[in-house]
Order: sequence, then C-alpha cells, then structure tokens
Amino acid sequence: MSDLIQTANIEIPQVMLASWQNTVDLIAKLAKIPASLIMRLQQRSLEVFVSSQSPGNPYRPGALEQLDSGLYCEAVINDQAELLVADALHDPLWCNNPDIKLGMISYCGLPLNWPNGQPFGTICILDSKRNPYDTAKRQLLSCFRQAVEANLATLYQKAELEDANNHLEQRVHQRTAELEQLNQRLSREIDIRLAAERLVDYQQHFDADTGLPNRKQLKKKFSELTGGSAPADALAVLNLNLANLKKVNDSFGHQAGDQLIHQLAARLSKQLPDSAFLAYFGAGEFAILDQGHSDTIVEQSAELANHLCQLFKTPVPAGEHSVTPSVAIGIAGYPHDGTEIDELLRKASTARSFSGSPLPGDYQFFSGEMQSRLTARLQIESQLTHALEHNQFQLHYQPLVDSGNGQVVGAEALLRWHNPQLGQVAPDRFIPIAEQSGQIIEIGLFVLRAAISQAAHWCREREFCIALNLSPVQFRDPDLAGQIHRLLTTYRLPPHCLEVEITEGVLLQDEAQALQTLDALTRLGVRISLDDFGTGYSSLSYLQKFPFDTVKIDRSFVAGLSNSTRNQELVRAIIAMAHKLNLKVVAEGIETAEQAAFISREQCDLSQGYFHGRPVPAETLQGLLSERLEASVE
Ligand code: C2E
Ligand code: CA
Ligand code: CA
Repeated sequence: MSDLIQTANIEIPQVMLASWQNTVDLIAKLAKIPASLIMRLQQRSLEVFVSSQSPGNPYRPGALEQLDSGLYCEAVINDQAELLVADALHDPLWCNNPDIKLGMISYCGLPLNWPNGQPFGTICILDSKRNPYDTAKRQLLSCFRQAVEANLATLYQKAELEDANNHLEQRVHQRTAELEQLNQRLSREIDIRLAAERLVDYQQHFDADTGLPNRKQLKKKFSELTGGSAPADALAVLNLNLANLKKVNDSFGHQAGDQLIHQLAARLSKQLPDSAFLAYFGAGEFAILDQGHSDTIVEQSAELANHLCQLFKTPVPAGEHSVTPSVAIGIAGYPHDGTEIDELLRKASTARSFSGSPLPGDYQFFSGEMQSRLTARLQIESQLTHALEHNQFQLHYQPLVDSGNGQVVGAEALLRWHNPQLGQVAPDRFIPIAEQSGQIIEIGLFVLRAAISQAAHWCREREFCIALNLSPVQFRDPDLAGQIHRLLTTYRLPPHCLEVEITEGVLLQDEAQALQTLDALTRLGVRISLDDFGTGYSSLSYLQKFPFDTVKIDRSFVAGLSNSTRNQELVRAIIAMAHKLNLKVVAEGIETAEQAAFISREQCDLSQGYFHGRPVPAETLQGLLSERLEASVE
C-alpha cells in the first residue's frame, strides 16, 4: 500500500513550516552563516522551500532552481550523501555552479528523505566566504536534518493512514455495491424461480392450450368433493371425446384442430351448470364432474349429456372451415360405479366407446355388461394380431342364385376366423375391431387375394361372379383400385367376374375420395354393389350419386316379408326403382321357399340366403357346383 503513497503530493502543514522556519533561522544564527535552507525536490527543479531570515541571504522561499545545472543540492540528492564544498571558487568541480552568481561560494548539505527512501530534498547551509564547516556545524546540520526527517515520517504515516482509510472506504463502498448487486441478483433469481414454480404448478394442473384444468386438477377436485366434512352425495363423471379431431387435423392442419378444441372448450365452459367441473385431457378428450343427489343424479346427468349433444350439433369454425364436432359421451356414477376417480374415468371412457355407434352424438351410461364386452373386445384385439400369420382365416362362399331359373351364378365371399382360444368368431364381432385397429387393411388384402384366386379358378369353368366385402377403412387407401387391378392381372380374372360390396359407411366418410376409387374400379370393369340397402340414411340419393351396378336389399326387409304387407311394398318398390336405374337387385337372407317365390315374382335378379345354401368352404361349394353342372348336362 505504501508504494502507492505519492510523497510529491504531501503537503507540509503550516505549523510544521513554521517550526522548520525556526530551525533554519536557528542554524543560520548558530553557524553564523548568511543562508540556511530546506530545499524540496520538484519535478524538474529544486524549490527553495524554507529559507532562513538572516542578513545577506539571497534565497527567497518559492524560488525554483533548474535541475541539471550543477546545483550542490542536486548532487546531494543523487549521491544521498553529505556534500561539503569549502571554497567553490578554488574547486574545479564546483567553480561554475550557479550559486556563485548569488555570491555563495561555500556549501554544506545533507539529503532529506521520506521514510520510504524517496527524496524530499536537502537541508543545507551556504556562506559567502570560504567555510570549511567544522564538525560542530556539520553535527548541527545533521541534528536538524533528523528533526525534519522525523517530521517527514509523521507526515508520511499520516498520509499512509489516510490512504489506508481511503482504501478501506473504497473497499467498503465496493463491497457494499457488490453486496447490493448480489442482493439484486438473488432477488431476481428468487423471482424467476417463484415464477417458474408457479408456471410448473399451472402446467401441472391446467392444460396449456385451452387453459382448462387438466386430469390432475380434476382428480384434486374429485378428492375435495368426496372427502372433507361434507362429502358429495353423488357425482356423475362424463367423458367426452371429439372423434373427428384427427380427421380435422389431417385434412385442415393442426391449427384448425387446435381452433376447434378451443371453440369447444369455450362453448362447454359457457354452457355448463355451476354444479359441473370441466377438464381437458388433451387429444380431443374432455371430462366433466357433475355434482348432484343420489336420487336425481341419473336424470341430471342424462339431461346434461342431452344438452351437450344438442350443443355439438352446431358447426364450429376450424381454420377457414366449419366443422360439426362428432362428440361421443360416456357417463359413470359415483358411488354407484366406483369410488375412485381413476376407476370412474375408465368406466366413463368405456361407456363412451359404446356410444357413438352407429352415429356419433349420443351418450351411454356405464354398465357391467359393457365391461365384459370390452374385455371380450380386448381379447379379440390381442388374438387378431397373430391370426393372419397363424392361418386362422378362411373364406366361405355363399351361393348367389338367379331367381329366375335357380342357377348358382356366383357367390359372396364371407370371412371366417377360427381362433384356438376363442373358437369361431363371427365377422360381425371381429371386423369392427379390426377396422378400429387398422388390421383390416392386411386382412382385407388376404380376402382380396383368396377370393380373386378362387374366382379365377371357378370362372375358367363357367360364367361366374364372386362378390366380396370391402371395409370403409380399406377405402381410405388411395391405392385400393391399383391393388385390385394388380391381383386381377396376376390371377387373370376378367374384371366383370368380380363384384365389390360396400356399405354406406364408405360413402359417409370422404365422399370425394370414395367416388374417385369407385370410378377407378368402374373403369377397371369391376362391378360395384351397395350392400345392406335400406338400413342406412340416404341410400336413395347414393344410388344416383355413385356408379353402382347392384343393390342388395337388406335381409331385415326380407325377414318381414311374410307378415308385413308394408315390407312387401317396400321390397317391391326397391326392385322397381333399382331396375329403373339399370341396377341389378339381390335379395339377402332368403330363408324360405315363400320368400324365394316372392322375390322371383317381383323380378328380383338374384337371391341369396340359407334357403339356397349357407356360406361354405370353397371345396364344398366346388362340389355343389360340379353336381349342378353334371345335373344340367344330364
Ligand atoms: P353381409 O355382407 O351382409 O353378409 C351377409 C351376412 O348374412 C353373412 O353373415 C351371412 O352368413 C348372413 N346370411 C346369409 N344368408 C342368411 C340367411 O338366410 N339368414 C340369416 N340370418 N343370415 C344370412 P356373416 O358371414 O356372419 O357376415 C356378417 C357381416 O360381416 C357381413 O354382412 C359383412 O358385413 C361382414 N363381413 C363378412 N366377411 C367380410 C369380409 O371379408 N370383409 C369385410 N369387410 N366384411 C365382411
Ligand atoms: Ca355383403
Ligand atoms: Ca348384406
């Protein structure tokens, strides 16, 4: 620290100057010489700092003598030793020194230093005549030199102390500033952490997109409602799923999907009664907790579900489009269906998966039977995964008979699944599941290949037509017509020998895509048949819109023929109308001779049903065909 003390800047206080003045005056007097001086070294000169007030003294305080001009005092400072010049006039070293001009020809001086060794200047005496300065005088000078240096030491220590104080103050300042900064940084970090924690807490309990409470928050609400001092008497847990979200995302983009969800969330929030708590689980799935009383909760939740179904009938904007939300609702009740929220949510979701068929927009209450059906469904789903590779599928063929002459002119290929664990599983049970899981694509290809290769075989021997069923899911594949074309070529089956049967389900999805595939199939020469005619909603309009060759009257109409004249009228009308549109008509489910006779009378082209033959393996039908062939030859 002391190295930093700038001795040049240390001021000599007035009291000390006065005492120095006394000193030099006293020396001059005692030594009997005209000049006694204290000189201070400045940057480029030596300053007459204190000068004795004695007669004949030519030196004035404040006068500056240039360095490098051969000054006695400069030599003393440089050599740091006493200099004694008794007679400069006769001293070749000093005979040109500037003091001679002032009349001073002898000199005795000592260096004055600061305690750190830096020079202060000198203390000296000068005489206008030769003066050898005896020991007594030199001791006197040395003595006063010590007194002055003691003063310098005091000043120096004071400066050091001030410097240390300054430093300390500076350090304290600096530390205070540093602490303040640190404090600010800490506060900021605490704020950021608190904000982050709040965000995490929010994210943990609320859906980021809709701002609605999430699953966790709903569970918390359930605990609050069912726990505590006044637990709820009854609750309904509603599970709502937007079935067409994926379709909206795929067709119009995720932004449109997000907008749809936002709109629904807003609609729901606005419309729900105060007793209801709404949450969003993501991926189009909402849940509602509705509070009520055990004797009215069923009616209350049915009313709420009905209200919601109505709410979803109005289209909602999604991007530039307008979408009618396809929402299915499932309901489970507390404590009737369970006392744990996870169980209730699961049951509501199970119930929901049973609603929405055949058309979305309705609601279902959970029932125990649903659970067992669901379990069976899950079993089927898991067994289906290996069914193809384990050759568990087989096609059966049901004869299609010309209702005019009773000849077998074709057959419908119907899929059969035998599973070692589940036994024989009806297509009505496993096909919807395969459609949901997407396995129908692979299964459908198996059906196409097996039926086409079999048809090629039969068609070589006789005029024959094979009908096969296509699922709406298969129709989503834009290459369906291409696949069929390749198989026809591979097995060399004339296209008109193949008829594909579709239901309205195909046309209910993407109409444009369906039409494209149907047109492509028509161009190939493959025949197209509308299956289960009469059971759907807009069968009539479809007949005109799409390029059908055949309609198959659903067997529910045929079953009612014998005891309902209305059904007779209906079947008659369908046949007449189809003929007007140049379509062939097949009557399904012919079980009796009476039914066969009726549709034959009404000029229905083809007849299919147990009366003519049940679906049988290819070899069995082959035998039947050969028998008939032989019979006709005979
Ligand atoms: P579908 O296309 O309407 O097939 C006719 C169904 O009626 C067949 O049931 C057949 O066995 C049954 N049936 C025929 N004649 C009579 C009768 O006189 N009385 C009664 N009560 N029933 C009769 P199956 O084979 O159980 O097939 C059920 C449904 O499964 C089919 O209805 C069809 O929608 C679907 N399906 C069958 N095979 C396939 C397939 O390979 N692919 C696709 N996508 N669906 C298939
Ligand atoms: Ca069919
Ligand atoms: Ca049918």
